[in-house]
Amino acid sequence: LGTLYVVATPIGNLEDLSPRAARLLGEVSLIAAEDTRHTVRLLRHLGLTVPMLSLHEHNEAARVDQLDERLVRGESIALVSDAGTPLISDPGFVLVRELRARGRCIVPVPGPCALVAALSAAGLPTDRFLFQGFLPAKAGARRQRLERLASNQETLVFYESPHRIRDTLADIAAVLGERHLVLARELTKSFETFLDGSAAALLTRMEDDPDQSRGEFVIMLAGAEARHGSDAASLEADAVLEALLAEGVGV
Ligand code: SAM
Repeated sequence: LGTLYVVATPIGNLEDLSPRAARLLGEVSLIAAEDTRHTVRLLRHLGLTVPMLSLHEHNEAARVDQLDERLVRGESIALVSDAGTPLISDPGFVLVRELRARGRCIVPVPGPCALVAALSAAGLPTDRFLFQGFLPAKAGARRQRLERLASNQETLVFYESPHRIRDTLADIAAVLGERHLVLARELTKSFETFLDGSAAALLTRMEDDPDQSRGEFVIMLAGAEARHGSDAASLEADAVLEALLAEGVGV
């Protein structure tokens, strides 16, 4: 049986492709790529010509049997997306789920991932974080999602595109107020920038310098303040609750 390698590719800087990823891309019989026109540039850079097949959200389910047949024939396959780690806000989940259910060998080849790169340099707590991918495109749904996340104590992480970055920051300002935010832009590229402050302050910054709203973004937000356990009022409330429960009062 062949192996499916899930291969992370650069998010901007070609030097970030690992030697192992480069070797495997040259060794597999087939590369399943989100966009073959995009991946051909990476292969050209590596001096490789490897057969490719497109695998994106619209054809992923239909590709499963076809790719599985090749694995069963003993061929190995690399799965790549346009940038970063496949399956992370990118295609591949359906394929990996189905192949794993069939007992196939699936091997991750780790490397660049925008959310991890962003968190590693942001200075926000990383012991617990909540990655939310892209927020909904429609304003109403986006605000609702933010409201649902408002009391979360973990660092919040979102992906965002240049088209929506201002609207999203405006909604974050409206729903979450002065919350500390770190914005990572164009990671690993020439214009990589980290900005931090409140969402409102960053919006003003973008108005002053429109270049700051160009490119790709990872938005990171401090989690909600933890309610302090030593807070006198909360201790008292806990004691009352405990007493009521001990008495068997339904609460
Ligand atoms: N699979 C990718 C990964 O591992 O990070 C993410 C793919 S997702 C379709 C694309 C989004 O990732 C962009 O809209 C942006 O939010 C984020 N992203 C990708 N590359 C980035 C970069 N160089 N700098 C900042 N954000 C980036």
